[in-house]
Parts: sequence; structure tokens; C-alpha cells
Amino acid sequence: MICPICARETVHEYRPFCSRRCADIDLGRWLTGSYAVPSEEEGEEDAASAAPLPQRH
Ligand SMILES: [Zn+2]
Repeated sequence: MICPICARETVHEYRPFCSRRCADIDLGRWLTGSYAVPSEEEGEEDAASAAPLPQRH
């Protein structure tokens, strides 16, 4: 599979994304779809937290 964010090969742990970062980006876009300004935070590479992102609806 290919990451829809950066078009790299996906990593099983983060499918369908290649990394936690891309998953966060996608989630951020989804949550802030009405906002035009993307605000991805830097430095959220938490090696300890391998848990999946909480799904909010
Ligand atoms: Zn990616």
C-alpha cells in the first residue's frame, strides 16, 4: 500500500499510513477540515506510545 499523505510505502503498524506523523496529519485534516490552515505540530514522535490514535467522531 501507499501512504495517501506522502506516497511512501506504508508501515503495517500505521496502515494505511507510513508513520504516526502521516496518520496525525490525516487526522488533523479530517478534524479541521473546515480550517484552511494546516497546523501540524512538530516533535510528536513518541517512540513509547505505539498505541493507535483515538478515533473521534
Ligand atoms: Zn506518509
